[in-house]
Amino acid sequence: MKTFFKELRLPTSKRVELIDITNEVEGAVKESGIREGICLIFVPHATAALLANEHERGLINDIISKISEEYPKDGRWQHNLVDDNASAHLAASFIGASRVFPIKGGKLIRGTWQNIFLVELDGPRGTRKVVIEIMGE
Ligand code: ZN
Repeated sequence: MKTFFKELRLPTSKRVELIDITNEVEGAVKESGIREGICLIFVPHATAALLANEHERGLINDIISKISEEYPKDGRWQHNLVDDNASAHLAASFIGASRVFPIKGGKLIRGTWQNIFLVELDGPRGTRKVVIEIMGE
């Protein structure tokens, strides 16, 4: 079995933001030369997450609204007494820090309306890391 590792470093520009990383992930799959296997994408951060869904401006705004509605920044969260970003930790906990996709015939399997997004929840940040680990043959 072969493995391939790549780390992306991306700047973010808003407090809550979705950044489409589909091209970068598919580029890594191509670069890996792996034809059959899996692709793990992981964010090593407590206040960022990953999701897969349609890249449509209205839906992106809806997702951002839903995050703010579920995890309001000014909620009476205990962690806000420590560093005032409890909403970001909560959203990251429930959206999740990783996603796994199958690779078949050298291509990532995903739905037509499933782009891959880095979700910034406590930005803007100079650098957010996204780790891609590809395993297979
Ligand atoms: Zn914190």
